[in-house]
Amino acid sequence: MASHKNSGQKTICVHTGETPDKQFRGAISPIYMASSYEFMEVDVKRYPRYFNTPNQEFLSKKIAQLEHSEGAMIFSSGMAAISTTLLAFLGSGDHIVLQKDIYGGTRNLVEEQFNRYGIKYTFTSGLCVNDFECCIQQNTKLIYIETPSNPLLKIVDIAAIANLAKSHNILSVIDNTFATPIIQRPIDFGIDIVLHSATKYFGGHSDISAGALAAKQEHIDTVWNLGKNLGGNLSDFMVWMLERSMKTLSVRVKAQQKNAKKLAKKLQKNKYVDTVYYPGLKSHPNYELAKKQMNGFGAMLSFKFIDGIDSEQFLKALKLIKPSMSLAGIESTMLLPSLTSHALLSPEERADQGISDGLIRFSVGMENSDDLLIDINNALHKTIG
Ligand SMILES: *Cc1c(COP(=O)(O)O)cnc(C)c1O
Repeated sequence: MASHKNSGQKTICVHTGETPDKQFRGAISPIYMASSYEFMEVDVKRYPRYFNTPNQEFLSKKIAQLEHSEGAMIFSSGMAAISTTLLAFLGSGDHIVLQKDIYGGTRNLVEEQFNRYGIKYTFTSGLCVNDFECCIQQNTKLIYIETPSNPLLKIVDIAAIANLAKSHNILSVIDNTFATPIIQRPIDFGIDIVLHSATKYFGGHSDISAGALAAKQEHIDTVWNLGKNLGGNLSDFMVWMLERSMKTLSVRVKAQQKNAKKLAKKLQKNKYVDTVYYPGLKSHPNYELAKKQMNGFGAMLSFKFIDGIDSEQFLKALKLIKPSMSLAGIESTMLLPSLTSHALLSPEERADQGISDGLIRFSVGMENSDDLLIDINNALHKTIG
């Protein structure tokens, strides 16, 4: 396999980790669907659940190179990557500090399962470094962050958290799903482990469920040890699909974030819009920090209308933008966190996180921005009546 160590991101996306087709010399990676490999006189004993079939091994190189890590692993979902990682490093009596507003599924994992394993946890009260530091205890083993956060696109200082963790000899873990390595490479700031829901931007076409981890080899080994027991590997066919998707990761994410920035500015000027949450707006409280640690500001934003405009009616009136769950596809989607991702929280908990019932989360796709804007304006006029 050719190394693309010093290549640009687009080249890495297209080429790194191609499985060579030595037999027919095809231009793309073949799929090796074998679940049985020879064991005698081989360097590696391969098996899907050992995360080392050819397609898994090679695509991991692309992910590792994008994230500037030593290695990577591919899982069957983002939650498979997250749960395997957390349980690999935490045991009975250990403590984890988690960012206050993280992905709902991760929060559910912690709140619904950790007590059974005797794992202690604390969610921070805020997103400043001090809010994390004051939660650290004698038995704290891990700090977990997610930035930009869902759905209000709050920004956590990655370098500061990595330093805090190092100074206490604690492992730092980030969910980098919203930014992708195209926009943010946490390992460069000292973070130990990077997690992804590859169902989102890595897949990008709303047709793949997958997850990924990028880290140093020693941490990969620890996760692998539990991963082979839990069995959250992805089938080789889907690994191949994911490779195909990741070839366009850089161009997709850049096109989508360009649209997002344009639309965030337009929405901010709209007299029916009360607030726009997007780290690329100067009005965002963490604009400077986002600028420092991100290469652009991503393609996710949220907004809320002024009082009297019914968000549900607005979503129903859209023609081009789909009111859909999930995010990060090339097609634009909108949803109400209060009815979907954050529906399990009580109204008080939602209010505490600043999520009003009418808040709309907008996953900006790569359609023409003018078409998206026309759709928004038409739906808005229909809603106002
Ligand atoms: C979707 C998502 C996850 C979970 O990923 P799945 O692939 O659905 O298991 C984790 N973190 C973030 C930020 C997500 O958006």
